[in-house]
Amino acid sequence: MQDPRIMPLELSKYTFGVGDRFTHQARAQLQAFVQIAEKGVEVTPVWNKSNREHLIIGSEPDGVREAAAAAVAALGWERGYHVDADHINLETVDRFLDASDFYTVDVADAIGEPASKAEQDEFVNRHPELVGEIRIAGIAQPFVTTREEIAGIIGKYALAVREAGRIYRHIAGRRDEASFATEVSMDETDQPQTPPELLVILAALADEGVPLQTIAPKFTGRFNKGVDYVGDLAQFEQEFRDDLAVIAHAVQEYALPGNLKLSVHSGSDKFSIYAPIRRALQDFDAGLHLKTAGTTWLEELIGLAEAGGSGLELAKEIYREALIHREALCGPYATVIDIDLAKLPTAEDVAAWDGERFAAALRHQPSDPRYNADLRQLLHVGFKIAANLGERYLAALREHEEVIAKNVTSNLYERHLKPLFIGNAI
Ligand SMILES: [Zn+2]
Repeated sequence: MQDPRIMPLELSKYTFGVGDRFTHQARAQLQAFVQIAEKGVEVTPVWNKSNREHLIIGSEPDGVREAAAAAVAALGWERGYHVDADHINLETVDRFLDASDFYTVDVADAIGEPASKAEQDEFVNRHPELVGEIRIAGIAQPFVTTREEIAGIIGKYALAVREAGRIYRHIAGRRDEASFATEVSMDETDQPQTPPELLVILAALADEGVPLQTIAPKFTGRFNKGVDYVGDLAQFEQEFRDDLAVIAHAVQEYALPGNLKLSVHSGSDKFSIYAPIRRALQDFDAGLHLKTAGTTWLEELIGLAEAGGSGLELAKEIYREALIHREALCGPYATVIDIDLAKLPTAEDVAAWDGERFAAALRHQPSDPRYNADLRQLLHVGFKIAANLGERYLAALREHEEVIAKNVTSNLYERHLKPLFIGNAI
């Protein structure tokens, strides 16, 4: 059990992760949070960037903090904000220790490495309340579990939990414990975690002394990059609601932080689940963290296309190169994209487009018949092409800042923040 005297940096009820691959859009992103604050809803921005992303772009965590701080100063933002060391582990966390006050501790790789029989027995003996009938407020049918089932679940997750503890203590040993918030992520794995599994995981994390404020399970269905959710919506909604009920229960039962909430990764563009999520948050009076990343880089491309002239030419060049290097770009993301090659326009097709046509193909406006989800996914993973263009790409971002910023802000506000936290069809 954690020491209740140690209070971690407290996350607000609603936090929202934004990614800014090239560190030029923090101000335009923050503007969307200003807009929703003006509507009376407080959502705290969290700038997230993973180690992998830093390596591809050649950027440093300190740069994320500087860009965020500059945006906050420029807009006179007086509320909170955070910088998330996204998907770190023991090997990669150190370079984030100065810049980040939010740590996404990724233990997915340790899931499934079986724990010893003795460890399983010890856990079940410590937690007799997890065996038999478990009644949870908000869930109609009680969970009915056997000793063997609980042992099986802890057998699958014990090492991941222990790893989360090791990483948390590593960070806490190098930063003031009151200076950061901890997320535990298990989303980058094959199988979704069921609500009973989530309960066992939370009990074990509490035993391990990890004061987590957000947890990112893998949900049912596909969370492909940059496009809508694919899966059974009713099943997702049920699972999401059950997870909320489990979290509220675990907070009471295991003295976890009272603001513990779900974190939805690859949350950008999942338009069809925003209304179910919103309903569930209202019914359970629950908080939420939702992460987006690449959606902003795509708005840069949309803005370049709309700018016309050299901006449009650059957007076309990036698409042409992405087509050529398609396999290398898609490889690392194979499990989170579904591109139908037959639906990708050729470079010649795209060469004939004007800026509006290019923007319409790329912009995630499902009702627009020109919208092309395959082109969008390819460009989503194509940011390495822009990274390789280096200063030429960055100069274009500066030259066309105004039209890009307009797209970045309205994408976050109209298509993400508003449907999630205010409600309104897209
Ligand atoms: Zn993730």
